[in-house]
Amino acid sequence: MMSVAENLRAVRATLPRGVRLLAVSKFHPAGVLQEAYDAGQRLFGESRVQELAAKRELLPADVEWHFIGHLQTNKIKYMIPFVHTIHAVDSLKLLSEIGRQAEKAGRTEPVRVLLQLHVAREETKFGFTPDECRAMLEGGAWRSVSPLVRLAGVMAMASNVDDTAQIRAEFREVAAFFREAKSRFFAGDAEFREISMGMSHDYPIAVEEGSTMVRVGTRIFGERAY
Ligand SMILES: *Cc1c(COP(=O)(O)O)cnc(C)c1O
Repeated sequence: MMSVAENLRAVRATLPRGVRLLAVSKFHPAGVLQEAYDAGQRLFGESRVQELAAKRELLPADVEWHFIGHLQTNKIKYMIPFVHTIHAVDSLKLLSEIGRQAEKAGRTEPVRVLLQLHVAREETKFGFTPDECRAMLEGGAWRSVSPLVRLAGVMAMASNVDDTAQIRAEFREVAAFFREAKSRFFAGDAEFREISMGMSHDYPIAVEEGSTMVRVGTRIFGERAY
């Protein structure tokens, strides 16, 4: 069996320059995250707020914590003082509430937020459809959300299927939407630059289609014990 350090090295070796690796460590104990940290990993992604907050206490302070799960407004407060990026924001209401909580917590650095797009065929996935996201951006109300929230790009999951042509088409749609949003709403904004897409089974396709950050769990840490 390969070690976490070996897995990390193998995944990193496949990533072109400019594509960052988010190690998705949900459901794995802090000791395993520490192994990855010792192998140089600094970006970690978690999908449950309490788990993220607990692990943060156990890992070195220079870890960059990313929240990748579905976020309920009543949980924001447990991570808002320290979370670096929130990947899956899919409503203006959630965006505003993150801003409100960031103000309340007295953050000094803005929290980065990615707009979650729903491009997969599955019904259960969260996220804006591209049309909904476009309408939200056109509405303009997001411009009056706290300056402690920085819209930093988009995030998506492809359908969980074997059909790589479908997966590729979905990732391509995300990248196209990103380019449209960039030129229409964020042209002068260097912070809006992230396309978070690609997981263990499909990240090579995501990278080919323009991902700037892949979210890889199983390929690094093995299967999760739920
Ligand atoms: C769990 C999860 C991942 C990582 O999945 P793996 O298949 O283990 O690589 C990536 N993104 C999101 C949003 C997740 O919930």
